[in-house]
Amino acid sequence: MEKTIVLASANEGKAREFRAILEPLGFKIVLQSELGVKSPEETGKSFIENAILKARYAAEKTGMWALADDSGLSVDALNGAPGIYSARFSGGDDKSNNLKLLDLMKDVPSDKRTARYYCALCLVRHKDDPVPLTVLSSWEGSIGNKEIGSGGFGYDPLFIVTGRQCTAAQLPPQIKNLISHRGRALAALTYKLEHNLS
Ligand code: IMP
Repeated sequence: MEKTIVLASANEGKAREFRAILEPLGFKIVLQSELGVKSPEETGKSFIENAILKARYAAEKTGMWALADDSGLSVDALNGAPGIYSARFSGGDDKSNNLKLLDLMKDVPSDKRTARYYCALCLVRHKDDPVPLTVLSSWEGSIGNKEIGSGGFGYDPLFIVTGRQCTAAQLPPQIKNLISHRGRALAALTYKLEHNLS
């Protein structure tokens, strides 16, 4: 029987990514925004804590299984910043986040510009689920000296992918979805869904 999962997000792009992977496994994905549920304040100190609190909130508001993600960029030379504050780093849009990052990194030599994206996912079966399914995946790279590429979003034009001579914004979406922090986290969660919940 098909199981419906509420996705703790208002982002249709994310819903598409999750649907592509979870629908063949018999799960139907609905966005919490379609059900009139707003996002809670992200008060956690880590990606995992924020994913868990968002999932629990969506489960509480809907009474359904709930899936949440939380992701961001962690730069070694900035002690892990912008981290969980990636979306609100500059207080402005993606462009101003990137300009702020470039400015903070302007004196950092190329061998010290390492960084990684993280993606935490959490699935709960009810608001008080004592055994939430969680995964945390990462994607290694380094921060470039200027924006290159027009694909992706966020910090992608500055994120030089380890092992490839390009930024994340230059990767075709199918490739990014396969190798990115989010792609890997989804694959790991799918494995847990198939093996831990059967
Ligand atoms: P969230 O997963 O929507 O909470 O994203 C948090 C923020 O992290 C985004 O607004 C971006 O700034 C950054 N981020 C997360 N994943 C990516 C990615 O794949 N590319 C570029 N930026 C990302």
